[in-house]
Amino acid sequence: MTAPLDPVEQKLFAVDLRLDELEDRVKSLLDANANPTLPKPTWQHQTVDAWVEGWFVEAYVRSPVVGMRWCAQWREHSEAVIRLTAMWRSWESCQRDVDRGLSTWFASYGDPQFYELTSPSGTFRSCGVDSHRVLPPLPA
Ligand SMILES: [Zn+2]
Repeated sequence: MTAPLDPVEQKLFAVDLRLDELEDRVKSLLDANANPTLPKPTWQHQTVDAWVEGWFVEAYVRSPVVGMRWCAQWREHSEAVIRLTAMWRSWESCQRDVDRGLSTWFASYGDPQFYELTSPSGTFRSCGVDSHRVLPPLPA
């Protein structure tokens, strides 16, 4: 037979029970968030490839001219993949604001990134209409 708990031990026991309840609650919330059946934000494109092919190349209609670079093999340029992924994700986010989202996206994300990708000193600086060359990463 065990001795009855003194008031301090009773309080600690009650706190311990409450802590267990809180841990269970946090775990269930985390599990609920990980549940793939819960609604997620609706994205119009599920991959950066789908976004580039389905929206980007249609929105930025340009003929490669002097001073502008593009590479059809953009997937082989890590910087391009990173920048286009950032553009795609911000585009998906801006789509939720039907009134100003697209304008905000062009001004704040699309046009600045497009310039970095296509300028003569940008991501595709070593590529041309009929040439492709991936530059090595910066020395580290
Ligand atoms: Zn290239």
